[in-house]
Amino acid sequence: MPALGLGTWKSAPGEVYQVIRDAINVGYKHFDCALLYGNEPEIGQAFNDAFKAGDVTREELWVTSKLWNNAHKTEFVLPNIQKSIDNLKVGYLDLYLIHWPIVLIPTINFPSIGSELVSLKEVPLAETWRAMIELQKTGLAKHIGVSNFSAKKIQNLYDDSGIMPEVNQVEMHPFLQQNQLKSYCDLHSIIMTAYAPLGSSDRPVNRKVEGEPALFSNQILMQIADNKGISMGSLLLAWAVNRGISVIPKTVRKERLIENLAAADIELSITEMAEISKVNMNYRYVKGDFWCLPGSDYTLDKLWDE
Ligand code: NDP
Repeated sequence: MPALGLGTWKSAPGEVYQVIRDAINVGYKHFDCALLYGNEPEIGQAFNDAFKAGDVTREELWVTSKLWNNAHKTEFVLPNIQKSIDNLKVGYLDLYLIHWPIVLIPTINFPSIGSELVSLKEVPLAETWRAMIELQKTGLAKHIGVSNFSAKKIQNLYDDSGIMPEVNQVEMHPFLQQNQLKSYCDLHSIIMTAYAPLGSSDRPVNRKVEGEPALFSNQILMQIADNKGISMGSLLLAWAVNRGISVIPKTVRKERLIENLAAADIELSITEMAEISKVNMNYRYVKGDFWCLPGSDYTLDKLWDE
């Protein structure tokens, strides 16, 4: 999996086609998608046109997508990946992830009341993981993994099936360094991917908190970026790659596509990494509280196991 990929959440239909064509032309090989993002058909059109134009081959790309929360039951897993594969026009996925350790009733995309969520006691994550293992055997997903999973939840999957996820995609940046989870993943050779590596500032406003800490105006980070003569965006992405983490910044601007991709080659010194480790404050931008609705079985404690 190429260390730096392109995130596609919030890249709107109407603009995402050109972003993908540009990204391929400037050298991106890794694309992070999801059925939920609502833009897979247009991304697929861009992939298809790029293949036809000879810009890149299918085999050169690494395409990830994710199983949505309303399709965790065994019988829904295969149809769900098939939707993404058809949307993306790629024949198979390089990586398929369980998007969240959360279950919704099949007719609901996003819950507004507690009764639209289904307890993990009813549809256990172990059932979904067993279906993912079967899916991998079909070749439709070359690799399988999870997203937003704690070490405890990953260990439970392993205890049930004897098979570890290959990847865990979680929020990670200098304010949320995830040191314990990283130690667990390192120990079990699970690759981590950092989402929201730039702080996800284009999140919907109802998911923002007034006065939340801003990566781009942190004094220590600004000083390191200035001393090194690189932008803050580049510093944040280089930090992830220098920790051995894959990272998937989202942008719709061509100049940032180029800048972000180049950040994967920036080396940070031991001193710079040590300085950055000091700004950790376990601060989550994507809190997951939108799943914890009254009347459901979900709480933040149970979601993050912290
Ligand atoms: P990011 O941290 O990637 O931030 C995106 C924001 O940063 C956009 O506003 C973008 O603006 C801006 N930006 C991009 N490059 C730069 C730069 N060099 N300097 C300054 N600003 C910049 O947030 P995301 O939430 O999008 O996370 C990345 C990806 O991770 C998602 O797109 C998605 O693929 C994945 N993800 C997965 C989740 C999961 O549950 N598994 C949850 C959240 C994200 P502009 O576009 O205008 O350049």
